[in-house]
Amino acid sequence: MRLLLVEDDSMIGESISEALTNQSYAVDWVRDGRSAELALANDVYDLLLLDLGLPKKQGLQVLREYRQRSGMLPVLIITARDAMADKVSGLDAGADDYLVKPFDLDELFARVRALLRRHTGRAQPVITYGQVTLNPASHEVFLDGQLLSLSAHEFSLLLTLLDPPERVLSLAELEEKLYSWDHEVASNTVEVLIHRLRKKLGNDFIRNVRGIGYKVSIS
Ligand code: CA
Repeated sequence: MRLLLVEDDSMIGESISEALTNQSYAVDWVRDGRSAELALANDVYDLLLLDLGLPKKQGLQVLREYRQRSGMLPVLIITARDAMADKVSGLDAGADDYLVKPFDLDELFARVRALLRRHTGRAQPVITYGQVTLNPASHEVFLDGQLLSLSAHEFSLLLTLLDPPERVLSLAELEEKLYSWDHEVASNTVEVLIHRLRKKLGNDFIRNVRGIGYKVSIS
């Protein structure tokens, strides 16, 4: 899962970016409204975290124009403006949720998870597919009820493949979902991760769709 963070305050941006990276998300961080628009044009993100008071272009304006262009991403506004009018105008401009700074990081994580699951049409907090159960909140994965030990990137890859399941993703798409701009990624990195996951989940759980990519399958 890859998130775009738009925040002009260095300390807040760094702390949010680091915290979300530790939660196994790939995070790209930009510091003004224009850079946010350029990044959004890439269309690789799963969620937008948007500050309102921004240089070059205000967050609310970025959001309005993004929705006018039919941008579908879940948007979580993070801002110090706690006036009721700002919350209302943020939500009415197309935001899905709102957090007022300073906030607790655990609350941020929970809201991000809630928005991501709603965006993929899932209401259940835990993903179950075949014999595999993945808990996005606790980062636990079970196979037949047995807890598996996965690396952070193995976990991210599995979550991307499972949410929603049976969607075919190319190696390039998987790489985009797993790694932010700051990462130099070797060409076979995702294939190595798939190989490791297959060892842990069984060879057939992740299928190769010839010429297209990979998907999870139990049929
Ligand atoms: Ca700001």
